[in-house]
Amino acid sequence: MTATTSAETWAARARAVALPSRAFIDGQYRDALSGETFDDVSPRDGSLLAGVAAGDAADIDAAVSAARQAFDDGRWRDLAPRARKQVLLRFAALVREHADELALLETLDVGKPIGESLRADVAGAAGTLQWYAEAIDKTYDEIAPTGPGALALVTREPLGVVGAVVPWNYALLIASWKIAPALAMGNSVVLKPAEQSPLSALLLARLGSEAGLPDGVLNVVPGMGKTAGAALGRHNDVDKIAFTGSAPVSRLFLGYAAESNGKTVSIEAGGKSPQVVLADVSDVDAAASAVAWGIFYNAGQTCNAGSRLLVDESVKDALLDAVVKVADHFHAGDPLDPATTMGAIVDDTQLDRVLGYIDLARREGADVTLGGGRALEETGGYYVEPTVLDGVHNDMRVAQEEIFGPVLSTITFSGEEEGVRLANDTRYGLAASVWTRDVKTAHRVARQLRAGTVWVNTFDASDVMTPFGGFKDTGAGRDKSLHALDTYSALKTTWFDLS
Ligand code: NAD
Repeated sequence: MTATTSAETWAARARAVALPSRAFIDGQYRDALSGETFDDVSPRDGSLLAGVAAGDAADIDAAVSAARQAFDDGRWRDLAPRARKQVLLRFAALVREHADELALLETLDVGKPIGESLRADVAGAAGTLQWYAEAIDKTYDEIAPTGPGALALVTREPLGVVGAVVPWNYALLIASWKIAPALAMGNSVVLKPAEQSPLSALLLARLGSEAGLPDGVLNVVPGMGKTAGAALGRHNDVDKIAFTGSAPVSRLFLGYAAESNGKTVSIEAGGKSPQVVLADVSDVDAAASAVAWGIFYNAGQTCNAGSRLLVDESVKDALLDAVVKVADHFHAGDPLDPATTMGAIVDDTQLDRVLGYIDLARREGADVTLGGGRALEETGGYYVEPTVLDGVHNDMRVAQEEIFGPVLSTITFSGEEEGVRLANDTRYGLAASVWTRDVKTAHRVARQLRAGTVWVNTFDASDVMTPFGGFKDTGAGRDKSLHALDTYSALKTTWFDLS
């Protein structure tokens, strides 16, 4: 089935799709040891999807034990690299075979349009698994230049048990960014999906098993952050936490590591990314399109969303008019309708948060140029209109805090220097863009922007082959690219005396 399938057909499939709701530990689906479940609600219409196993410390302990056993007996890490590669390639193929099912689970769980789930999330997860599978038998270790009396091998060793803790906005995709390089290096994994979006990860675990991952190598424990997430962070037998989520929770994971075994923690934690449009922008319409897509795609629930539009005052009016025209493409609609361009906000808490920030902007003195309200309330779902704020100052809370909704803050500046200063005046450092017709200006500004990714005359271009992560409060560590393999391994020196 494709994204051109009708809304009615997708809705019928949604009614029929099996919802995996139990933890996946040591190769089997299991209820939580406590027998408890939590309600998984669809933001599409506020309906209850499933009672999902509420994993807690005991389930995390069982999953970590299974992962440790699998690591220690070498059933995965000691397979020939080509054998591991074949398993991960099969895993990628199974994700593609189950694309419709995975996309449905993602759309029901987080409310994103079904076409996007298929094209971006499921295709991206399969592509990530395939890319790291193909890297397995193409990465080499090193020999140190010791001279003839010795041979010193510098080899990468898997870390052991990796705990992956992920958010809801790209539940499947971000899980694949952690799982694929971790498994490629020979680690075992315990994945804790966000409580808002456990379903795709639970199906993913079964597909990994069907692909040939030995039992215990990939475990998924759904549950609350404060129980399951904290237990994973504090576990003494977990060697590394790979975290994506909010900045405050990332700090908790650093604390958990310090309180327990000093495990390494990599962090990808949010952004307040500026799109910097200079006075000499060559194509105002192209910039406007990228600005609108950069904030309204996924209803703004994107860590690198271009939530701050920084624009030179000389081009502001023309640009903002064009942004509002492009914004007309985005209407909140049923995520199961392939024609929908903007889906739901993940839950009622997040809905209140987004609307609260719009109210705050009004009180702080910003103008609401477009949108500003809740949409489709009659559906029972959680939708917000595409919203453009004008007259924002960079020190307002709406310019400094992550809103995580379809809300663009427009801030004007005068000249390149002020634009760069305002762009960098944020706690975050995930992404930024610069729009200019001059290649020297582009280089100069790109170098000055303190962000893990800087786009020049584009926005949100990405590929698994380039690193993704940030500076400052966004955290330390990079997902994607071959560099991610370094973060799931440690170097070992083996010194032979040949004298
Ligand atoms: P969150 O920090 O609330 O939750 C992320 C994960 O941490 C979830 O699995 C959650 O269950 C767990 N968690 C929550 N509280 C916990 C606690 N006390 N102890 C242990 N674990 C806990 O984030 P969210 O609301 O799910 O996701 C949105 C955030 O993720 C945004 O800030 C967004 O920018 C960020 N994000 C960042 C990137 C990136 O930088 N690459 C990518 C996507 C999302």
